Amino acid sequence: MQQAAPSASLPERARGVIPGGVNSGQRNVPGLTDLVITRAQGASFWDSDGRRYTDYHAAFGPPLLGHNDPDVVRAVAEAGGSLDLCGVGVTEGEVELAETLVELVPSMERVLLTSTGSEATFHALRVARAATGRRLVVKFQGCYHGWHDSVSLNVISAPDRVGHKDPISTGILPEVLDATLVLPFNDRDAVRAAFAEHGADIAAVILEPVPHNVGCLLPDQEFLVTLREECTRHGSVLVFDEVITGVRHGLGGWQEVAGIVPDLTTMGKAIANGYPIGAIGGRADLMDMFSSRPGAPVFFAGTYNGHPAVVAAALATLRKLHAEPVHEHVFRLGERVRTELPPVLASLGVPAVVTGYGSVFVTYFMDRLPHTYDDLLDNDTRMFVGYRRRMIDQGVFELPLNLKRSHFSYAHTDADVDRLIEVTEAAVRAQL
Ligand code: PLP
Repeated sequence: MQQAAPSASLPERARGVIPGGVNSGQRNVPGLTDLVITRAQGASFWDSDGRRYTDYHAAFGPPLLGHNDPDVVRAVAEAGGSLDLCGVGVTEGEVELAETLVELVPSMERVLLTSTGSEATFHALRVARAATGRRLVVKFQGCYHGWHDSVSLNVISAPDRVGHKDPISTGILPEVLDATLVLPFNDRDAVRAAFAEHGADIAAVILEPVPHNVGCLLPDQEFLVTLREECTRHGSVLVFDEVITGVRHGLGGWQEVAGIVPDLTTMGKAIANGYPIGAIGGRADLMDMFSSRPGAPVFFAGTYNGHPAVVAAALATLRKLHAEPVHEHVFRLGERVRTELPPVLASLGVPAVVTGYGSVFVTYFMDRLPHTYDDLLDNDTRMFVGYRRRMIDQGVFELPLNLKRSHFSYAHTDADVDRLIEVTEAAVRAQL
């Protein structure tokens, strides 16, 4: 494509030099690739026409404190003014952050930082294969773990693709797809059957303990217990991908909520309130296999790992989560939507359920709470996407993509909840 003329609009210029005009396949949202963002603060962002949107999309989850939280911004500025990335040795902040995560997250005896969640899950699977000498990875339909090949399948699958290998990308070697088994979430029998057949060859089981990449499927406790038992029995590595649930659902992540300790945990997103971070941590014997330790065999690197500005953002975020009633606030707002919105939708005669956990909420247009991915196939996609498009017109931003969750931050208020409910009612009514 040719570069656009200098007089062209910004989206036109973008499309001339950036494929599709946006920097992620997940931002290729129909009708929204022309949105030019000019400012973000607290619970809002603004576009180039000066329109303000109350933001529930929250960049897929990081800004738990709200956009540009002043304490985080100050910490980043201070770090930027004194330290810089040097790529050798260690900084005080990295040690403090690792100590904090080890103290907070039950499974973390050691921790390493990355720049993204995808890197963290990639390294988790690599070290699991190295430690066990095995080939297979188990994932679950509906869970997303980033863009790398072993896990790039069966996230949001069409009904006729469920139960088959359903890659989210071309360019993945068939033998890589062959080495990933996909099981239904919340299905203990399927887990037991997979271990009975392949147990000796399963290196790792990876899951979002709460699959938020399809909105919210709450896990059965017995399902998580079964995973823990089967992995222990067969010597497979259990990986909780807490990139979304970690920090957001509690400082110790879902593993603390459920009281189940995985072998490895991956984190990202909300740890640094929007600065690019990932973390992998877990059992010392597994983590000590990474090549940050002299002579250890599992290669681990990343130019930006432990970037001082990002580390400063993470420390400021975690300090604030400790010191202020952030979780109490966002959980209360989440609970308000989950209890106050259903009767409003019921009064419109729409089959709808509002679910989620803590600060995360999602409205599905179906007549019962989903428990499995198959249940989600009953969600009315036209309603789901359509009412969100109408809400955007009213300055309330929930991402208009099927099954996407929404988030509260510390910057949202009760008045935001009142307006969210009001605007949702009007948008759903107009969509009928
Ligand atoms: N794991 C989960 C559960 C995620 O939701 C995501 C991103 O949405 C990732 C991993 C990948 O993280 P990143 O986009 O930072 O690479």
